[in-house]
Amino acid sequence: NAVPADAKNLRVKLVLLGDSGVGKSCIVLRFVRGQFDATSKVTVGASFLSQTIALQDSTTVKFEIWDTAGQERYSALAPLYYRGAGVAVIVYDITSPESFKKAQYWVKELQKHGSPDIVMALVGNKADLHEKREVPTEDGIELAEKNGMFFIETSAKTADNINQLFEELMSRLVDSVK
Ligand code: GDP
Ligand code: MG
Repeated sequence: NAVPADAKNLRVKLVLLGDSGVGKSCIVLRFVRGQFDATSKVTVGASFLSQTIALQDSTTVKFEIWDTAGQERYSALAPLYYRGAGVAVIVYDITSPESFKKAQYWVKELQKHGSPDIVMALVGNKADLHEKREVPTEDGIELAEKNGMFFIETSAKTADNINQLFEELMSRLVDSVK
């Protein structure tokens, strides 16, 4: 498809942060390939994927997605990882209060050291496991509201809210460059 000459083509680095096992790689795979692989192994090293989405007015956003095996948890490496990121997606697992604590840590870390105009999302993943839920939706909403973040609960397994997550990020990005 031809790109209209007047199209605005945005490109943005997106980083995912959160405890190991919360579903970061599965969210990316679901968004980029439309797949879910329950047997997928832990990411080895950093992986890099990109996906472009378009708005009706022909604005496009290319997400350059940085997904790691968790090297960013060594605080010395974290700033290298999120440097230059326009979008940070902080993920926890709704069945794991520990992962929610870690999400709070990442919110603080990015407030302190991230770029000031970074667009941040808080994502409660594994929403399909509602019987095992241990983090109430309200806790996610509250943390997000306090920090000016977008909040959504997703399931990489069922695909619930995955596209909505990226569409909302895109619309916030587009607004932020206007
Ligand atoms: P990461 O370490 O944050 O990248 O986590 P992964 O994406 O590797 O996922 C860790 C485990 O959680 C895998 O066994 C996935 O199959 C599982 N998982 C990921 N997302 C979901 C989800 O939305 N629902 C359920 N039930 N399991 C998930
Ligand atoms: Mg991973």
